[in-house]
Amino acid sequence: MEDLTQAQQDELATLLRELETQLPNAIDLASAGAATVELDQQSVGRLSRMDEIQRQAMAKSGRRSLEVRLQQVRAALATLERGDYGICRECEEPIGYARLKARPETPFCLDCQGAREDTRR
Ligand SMILES: [Zn+2]
Repeated sequence: MEDLTQAQQDELATLLRELETQLPNAIDLASAGAATVELDQQSVGRLSRMDEIQRQAMAKSGRRSLEVRLQQVRAALATLERGDYGICRECEEPIGYARLKARPETPFCLDCQGAREDTRR
């Protein structure tokens, strides 16, 4: 795979900075979603309470993944400054522009990401 051109790197850097400003807001929203509820045990029926518990669980896991993403964004911005952005942290091969464009904060190439997800199963 090709190394990134300067223009591609600049473009991805812009995406990362946008994510860095937007993700904390998304995390706040997800936290609010995970926090609300409790109240209303009488007025909310049993079924909708189950829905609510499920919704809350989803909001919590959504927040967790957003927090992980924000950490990755910050780590990626640090590698940009060091000049080794876009290099897979596992195999040290270039990650590739198409993948970075879709997920500029990813620390791994597609192969290594896939391998990690396989071992988790
Ligand atoms: Zn890799």
